[in-house]
Formats: sequence, C-alpha cells, structure tokens
Amino acid sequence: MSKSYRSELVGVFGYPVDENPTGVVEEAAFREAGIPWRYLTVLVKPEDLGDAVRGMRAMNWRGVNLTIPHKIAVISHLDELSPAAEIIGAVNTVVNREGRLLGENTDGKGMLKSLVESGRDPKGRHVTVLGAGGAARAVAVECALAGARKVSIINRTVLRGEELAALVSGKTAAACEFLPWTPGIRVPEGTDLLINATSIGLFPDTDARPDIDYDSVGPGMAAADVVFNPPDTPFLKEAAARGAQAINGLGMLVNQAAVNFNLWTGLKAPEALMMEALKGEFGLA
Ligand code: NDP
Repeated sequence: MSKSYRSELVGVFGYPVDENPTGVVEEAAFREAGIPWRYLTVLVKPEDLGDAVRGMRAMNWRGVNLTIPHKIAVISHLDELSPAAEIIGAVNTVVNREGRLLGENTDGKGMLKSLVESGRDPKGRHVTVLGAGGAARAVAVECALAGARKVSIINRTVLRGEELAALVSGKTAAACEFLPWTPGIRVPEGTDLLINATSIGLFPDTDARPDIDYDSVGPGMAAADVVFNPPDTPFLKEAAARGAQAINGLGMLVNQAAVNFNLWTGLKAPEALMMEALKGEFGLA
C-alpha cells in the first residue's frame, strides 16, 4: 500500500500578522478531522502580495486568508469573486478550485452566524453598525443580505460612512441610512442589534470604548463586538450593564474560521472544538 507524506497547505497572509490566532483554530480542526492539512501564518509585505499569491498558486495551496492590509489589493490577483465579496469589495478568504482562485468574504458570515446562534437573527430587524471599515462593510452587507429591515451606519469619517450606506441601499433590499459620528451620539431609535465594527477596544487600547450615549442602549437590544482581543470589551460591559445581550467577537472569529474550513475541505467544521481551541489560546478554557 502506498503512503502519502504530502501536506495540503492553507494559511494567512498579513502585515502585521504575528498576533493572528486563526492558525490555532484551523489546525485544531484539521487534527480532529484527521486530515494532513497545515495552516501557515505568513508575513507578506504589501509590495510582495502579487508574488505571494503566485507562489501559493504554484505550490497548489488549497486556499488562503487575507488580513490587513491585503483584503482589497488581493482582488486584482484572483480569477473570480463570490457575490458577497463583489458587493463588499474585499476578500478575506481565497479558495483554490483546481487552479482557479475564488475570492470570498467570510468576516460578515462569521458575525451573522454568531448573531443567529445567540438567538439574534437580523432578519426583519434594525441593525446599527459603528464603523465603515473592512469589518463594518462585511457585517453591514451580510446583515442586509440576511434580510435586515433597516441598517444605520455611524462613522467618524463621513465620506466612508456615506459610501457604505449607499452601497447597502443600492445592492441589497435593506433601507440604509448614514449618521455622522458626533461625540456621545444616541443609538438610533428602534435599534435591535448594535454592532461595534470599529477597532476601538482592540489590544493594547483595552480601556477604549466607542463614544456613544450608553443610556440609549437598553434591554431588548443586543450588542455585538468584532473586537476579540480581549473578548470582554468596555463596549460590551457598558451595554450589558444597561441590560443588553452581549455577544463577543470570539464567535465571529470561530464562525468565519468554520466557514473557511468548510469552503476549503468540503467537510463540516468541528465548531465546538474550534471554540475551545480559541478560548484556550486566550486563557478562557
Ligand atoms: P479598518 O481600519 O478597515 O476600519 C476601522 C474602523 O474603525 C473605521 O470605520 C474607523 O473609522 C473606525 N475607528 C477606529 N478608531 C476610531 C475612533 N477612535 N473613533 C471612531 N472610529 C474609529 O479595520 P477593520 O474593519 O479591518 O477592523 C476593525 C476591527 O475588526 C479590528 O479590531 C479587527 O481585529 C476586527 N475584526 C474582527 C474579526 C473577527 O473575526 N472577530 C474579523 C475581522 C476584523 P474611520 O473610517 O473614521 O477611520
């Protein structure tokens, strides 16, 4: 009987990338599934992205994740985009389909799954998103595609916020408004889901919280954060203190890793085990 010693490769390209924990989660899943796959965390400078993608193509990598600053730049090196990635205008996951590189965006799908699993399906709901960067674009578009009734975008840089609101209104069935971020802004009336999709609260600025009127957050609302390091952000603590349901960024991270696992391997992801692996990494297990 012949034996194969060959590895199937996936990974992440970023700059910086050292603190990205996705490899721990994906490799735990590969071990559980008993498949010879490896997830490599690779430092790729912006000027080297084209060579890196050609390299992964040449080595028949099965796919790759992209993080800061490659999510938009990678598009020019791909063969095809999924409908969601096309609308969002950014790719965080590439799938190698027999030599053709397909760009997907699973950031928003990860958040969506996390909301649904927390009993907070955005379908028919009013979702307010703080931020208009890469994560905010993915979250706002996926919530709208999942049937959110209304999406409010609050962002500091007006042009970026207006562009995202126009994108969601133009490409999905959700009504979308933009509100400039004035200090201490009240959460729009009727908000069911309030999502911090900014980087505020991210390590090392762990005491920072979005400058909103927390007294406009109340019971019946859910507050979700994209920031996962640390998971227990001041934003979530303030919201929970007002009676809102807090949903941390670990779920988003694990769920998008699970979606990626499935896209790459075709297998169902061992999600509970992946969450345990991530919690272990953050000393929460
Ligand atoms: P970007 O740089 O693309 O966007 C950052 C956003 O935050 C912008 O809207 C920016 O506003 C806003 N912002 C930053 N600082 C402030 C501030 N002091 N006051 C008001 N607004 C502010 O970053 P990403 O969207 O790529 O990433 C955002 C966060 O999402 C990161 O913490 C990242 O780790 C996290 N993330 C988590 C994932 C998960 O799986 N849990 C997946 C992907 C990302 P402006 O437009 O005015 O500059």
